[in-house]
Amino acid sequence: MKMFIGGEWVDSSSGETFEDHNPFDGSLFAVVPKGDERDAARAIEAAHRAKDRWADLAPAERIQYLFKLLEVLERRGDEVVEVLVKESGSVVKKAGFEVFFTKGMIQDAIAEAKRVSGETLVSDVGKFSFYIRQPVGVVVAISPWNFPFLLSMKKVLYALVLGNTVVLKPSSDTPVVGIKIAELFEEVGLPPGVLNVVTGPGSAVGEALVTHPKVSHITLTGDAATGRRVAELAARGLKGVTLELGGNDPLIVLEDADLEQAVDAAVFGAFFHQGQICMSSKRIILEKGIAEEFTSRFVQRVKGLKVGDPSSPETDIGPVINQAQLLEVHDQVTDALNKGAKLLCGGTYNGLLYEPTVLTDVTEEMRIFKEEVFGPARPIIVAEDADQAVRIANNSIYGLSAGIITRDVPKAIEMAKRLECGMVHINDSSVHDEPHAPFGGVKSSGIGREGGKFSMAELTEIKWVTIQPFRRHYPI
Ligand code: NAD
Repeated sequence: MKMFIGGEWVDSSSGETFEDHNPFDGSLFAVVPKGDERDAARAIEAAHRAKDRWADLAPAERIQYLFKLLEVLERRGDEVVEVLVKESGSVVKKAGFEVFFTKGMIQDAIAEAKRVSGETLVSDVGKFSFYIRQPVGVVVAISPWNFPFLLSMKKVLYALVLGNTVVLKPSSDTPVVGIKIAELFEEVGLPPGVLNVVTGPGSAVGEALVTHPKVSHITLTGDAATGRRVAELAARGLKGVTLELGGNDPLIVLEDADLEQAVDAAVFGAFFHQGQICMSSKRIILEKGIAEEFTSRFVQRVKGLKVGDPSSPETDIGPVINQAQLLEVHDQVTDALNKGAKLLCGGTYNGLLYEPTVLTDVTEEMRIFKEEVFGPARPIIVAEDADQAVRIANNSIYGLSAGIITRDVPKAIEMAKRLECGMVHINDSSVHDEPHAPFGGVKSSGIGREGGKFSMAELTEIKWVTIQPFRRHYPI
């Protein structure tokens, strides 16, 4: 495999490669260039060379590439699904969803290109005064392994259509998804350098990209620790950042909830993609009156989830991404059990398949409550009432998304206002996204929002322009 820089398929400068394995069966999936600082610099230079011509195109010209991309993805979507299943352990249903959602984002990005607008302003001194929005320049997009196609494309599509050029660095667990994105855009005929894809470790390639002086903006989705590091590095160059980081999202079920609906939402919110979603429902908080009934129905359903080969269309739960992640999840479960939590199901693993796990008697001191659990293990916490549920929910360094299940919608709206997070979904799980909606979090869950006009605000620069209509009198 090769990287894509300046419209060419190239090896790493060092000639080094790394192996990419299928998490389900451990087989070798691909051998990928191990880029370093030199490759990062090559890619930035290519993006920088391409930027003025790309920015000068009319939006109507730029969107033609995205119309073509829709056609290409319609034809080649199955290839993307196959890579997602084999490289990231995504079950077929989840991989298909990534492609489906991405088509919606392409349509939204096309629309957004024509919605970019400025404003005219009054002037205190009679000038004609207005502002315009322009591309920021070279954008670095750094993406994670959990929704590697959707989340890479969320950055790439909006950046490109708004007139920026891009260097994409995919996660080292899913480099082929990044390479596949380059292939799709190559077929579209994007001019050389407008999109570049560099594979390699975050520590070397990622940091070299973030610190390169010709980069204007960095958009990262990843762990909170990575976000902090990237923010620090970007601050030295006074560069813009958009950071979509981790979450420890609550799903609150109140006593008047429709329990069937609540259980459906909880099973999906907690376990879709093995629970490896930033906005997964990671803490299930139940109002006391329904705790017993909900828990018994929930555990019954969780035990019925099909765990196994992600390429089988019936599978609900595939492998977690790698051994380190599996051991981390298991440590978090073990810590809870050692401190007195009760295991209702799961708690074991086979290869990288971790059995969907539910724990009760969880306290706020346990790691499984305090930390982001990026795998299929979920704690249940019982609250006295809605107020206490909100307090428990807010007891987190994170603040990404939340779900509230209740028939009392006005009460849920009041709770939504008090929850410290960027998104709240009433009568649904915390897992929900739409291309044009403001996706993002507060506290350690990040800075900025992505999607539609919110991406536009992050990825364009405002320029104030005035026209002096008559001769002006100056004080000196
Ligand atoms: P990660 O932070 O380990 O890696 C994310 C990306 O950053 C990778 O491409 C990695 O190579 C790169 N990177 C790592 N160190 C870097 C550095 N020092 N400088 C520059 N780049 C660096 O995250 P991950 O394990 O791939 O993804 C899981 C995390 O992402 C979870 O915490 C999850 O909650 C979060 N996530 C957030 C969202 C969101 O939208 N808020 C969505 C999905 C995942």
